[in-house]
Amino acid sequence: MGSGGTASEASTTCRVCGAAAGVRAFLSLGDQPLGNAFIPASAIASEREFPLTMGVCSRCHLVQIVAPAPVEAIEQVYRNYSYVPTGATLAQHYGALAGDIVRIVEPKAEAQFLDIGSNDGLLLRSIRERVPAARIGGVEPSPRIAEIARSLGVPTINGFFDSAAADEVMSRFGRIDVASATQVLQHIRDPEAFLRSVARILNPDGVLVLEGRAYFPDVAEKISFDTFYHELLYCFTLHSLEQLLGLAGFTVFHAERSDVYGGSLRVFAQLRNGGTRAVQASVGNILTAEIAAGIPGFEVYATFALRVAAVRTRLSTTVSELLSTGATIAGYGAPSTGTTLLRYCGLGHDVLQYIVDDNPLKQGLVTPGTHVPISPSSALVERPPDFVLVIAWRLREDILSRLAPLRGDRIKGVIFPLPTPELVR
Ligand SMILES: [Zn+2]
Repeated sequence: MGSGGTASEASTTCRVCGAAAGVRAFLSLGDQPLGNAFIPASAIASEREFPLTMGVCSRCHLVQIVAPAPVEAIEQVYRNYSYVPTGATLAQHYGALAGDIVRIVEPKAEAQFLDIGSNDGLLLRSIRERVPAARIGGVEPSPRIAEIARSLGVPTINGFFDSAAADEVMSRFGRIDVASATQVLQHIRDPEAFLRSVARILNPDGVLVLEGRAYFPDVAEKISFDTFYHELLYCFTLHSLEQLLGLAGFTVFHAERSDVYGGSLRVFAQLRNGGTRAVQASVGNILTAEIAAGIPGFEVYATFALRVAAVRTRLSTTVSELLSTGATIAGYGAPSTGTTLLRYCGLGHDVLQYIVDDNPLKQGLVTPGTHVPISPSSALVERPPDFVLVIAWRLREDILSRLAPLRGDRIKGVIFPLPTPELVR
């Protein structure tokens, strides 16, 4: 079982706004490997772990990892990131996002779009379906995925988006009318510098669209502490995102919540000097809802940490009771979020016989930190366990229906760890 629960480390300097002793720790998730560092069993001896402690800044209100893992360790995970073709749900989401961007920004016919962290160009292709004369360009860190995007007709610069990449964007695409970055900002080591580089290449009336998971009110509501892993450096609220954008010269004129990735926040921002769009009521509405939930303020984070510790205790008890009767347990799903869940709750190979995941790239590997072997879902038929722990609990209904044919004679029950540990018989 990992250490910690609530945290009481000394305050540290905010890595974003620079407030000295501004960051107060509220949750220690113990030593954790990188969330996406699935490894062969032969590499267990050289695996690295780093303390994962979450804190919040009293000045800019940003929730952040108090001491992030070394940058080279994290970048290596992204360079080696495997391409998985986008599933129907995400394709639908990005299609809808493209529609929202066009509706809210009302870009001119030949507007220049730039997507940062553009993957295979899905969002840009969706935009061009709606604005046929639009000029599009992407920036994508994985060489293999950048190549796939180019083969799909999306001009793509390979690399991380930094000041040098911004220069390359300017020389290849010119000034940008609409820049977007989805599921990117929470992974950026210096988000203010990142945003300043975006500001530098935007037209004066340009728009920046950000969407990111780890929206704290969603995390708090579902007690989804497994949202936190080393690759994800921040957890946002509109309060903190407004502050951060303000440091880089942006103001938010529209914001909305979306259900993607277990709850995301989407904001539309413009340059303080140049933007002329009216601030929509959506911004005030979300800020008001956050204030009603206790944000900003430390209490909401301290309460969250107590609830996280209670989940661990209850889940451990449930699992221990099953194991004491001689029952066997297997896991369902090996998302990056499962790394934190399993390691923090002490659920290793001694508890879980195996975990099934249908991503062939993970099969044959073991989970980071807890070293549970990953098998195709056919293992549930060939070697049925007595109980299944659903690690990918966000897909609850989907997984229940997939397990339905195996329930009864073979599988006696299904355990959901979050939002509240629950055994469904
Ligand atoms: Zn700060």
